[in-house]
Amino acid sequence: MTDLRSMDPEELAQLCRDLGQPAFRAKQLFQWLGRGVRSFDEMTDLPKALRAKLAETCLLCPPTVERKQVSSLDGTVKYLWKLSDGSCVESVLMRYQYGNTVCISSQVGCRMGCAFCASTIGGKVRDLTPAEMLDQVLHTQLDSGAPVSHIVLMGIGEPLDNFDTVMKFLKLVNHPDGLNIGMRHISLSTCGLAEQIDKLARYRLQLTLSVSLHAPDDETRDRLMPVNRAYPVERLLESCRNYFRVTGRRISYEYAMIDGVNDADWQADLLARRLKGMPAHVNLIPLNNVEESPLKPSRRTPEFQRRLESRGVTVTVRRRLGSDIDASCGQLRRRQMLQT
Ligand code: SAH
Repeated sequence: MTDLRSMDPEELAQLCRDLGQPAFRAKQLFQWLGRGVRSFDEMTDLPKALRAKLAETCLLCPPTVERKQVSSLDGTVKYLWKLSDGSCVESVLMRYQYGNTVCISSQVGCRMGCAFCASTIGGKVRDLTPAEMLDQVLHTQLDSGAPVSHIVLMGIGEPLDNFDTVMKFLKLVNHPDGLNIGMRHISLSTCGLAEQIDKLARYRLQLTLSVSLHAPDDETRDRLMPVNRAYPVERLLESCRNYFRVTGRRISYEYAMIDGVNDADWQADLLARRLKGMPAHVNLIPLNNVEESPLKPSRRTPEFQRRLESRGVTVTVRRRLGSDIDASCGQLRRRQMLQT
């Protein structure tokens, strides 16, 4: 079966040609797919014979809402989607002043093994398809009625470990005949696959790259993030400097504050030293408790922030949204797995 929803307009045009149809059908088809239709019969301006032909050879299998939680504090909505093979992934809708943002997953599970993360506990099950990534944006919008203007790839999975799919997704979601979301409204978060960052730089996209740093020294980062053994801090920062040189885009560094692990003064000092001379923005994140993990949230965030700032680093502290609904990475899927 063909996965129509993962196809871009050029690929759809080829398909239309193969079916003996005029090229303009491709645009109609792409637009219908972008509206989240559930059957070919809804595509009313396509000839009946074409709809029947497509239904024989192509799949249209949008995700269904397996669970949904709405925060009574700030209107954050968390979705657990069930995909066609029964796998589940999460997305989160966050309402910011500058627009509605949806945080989406890129894989079912994750193989990166970060010590503080709920998404990686069961390992990686499989990669998502471009359509499954797009569907999270589309169906969050359809279900909530909130127009989505911003996307963050910060849900379950490591986007740069599913590189080609993510590139295709970006093309689809950015397309003027699709959701038409601008690259500058998209953030991609990576645990630090340095070679893939180099590869991404070559595309010269205007998206925001977020790097999950979480520690400025190899000893701590090795302990928290196995990826550091492949790409130690200096190697990673070399790719970050190169990324800025090539794209002109300032990188955002995520730093989850963990009690007694990465929140010491010397670590703030080292972090400031290592980021010196490159435009950077550090986002301090309150650690979310993961039941399986002994790591606890730091109480030193204000001091750490001040210390970085006094050394010239731009710092923000991430506001917690949806804290009443398990709205962080992998928690809802994890809960579902434990129950079934
Ligand atoms: N794999 C990518 C994107 C998914 S994780 C990455 O590693 O960047 C999105 C962000 O949430 C990352 O910065 C990740 O390190 C962070 N994160 C994961 N578990 C967390 C937790 N328990 N508390 C705070 N941040 C967490």
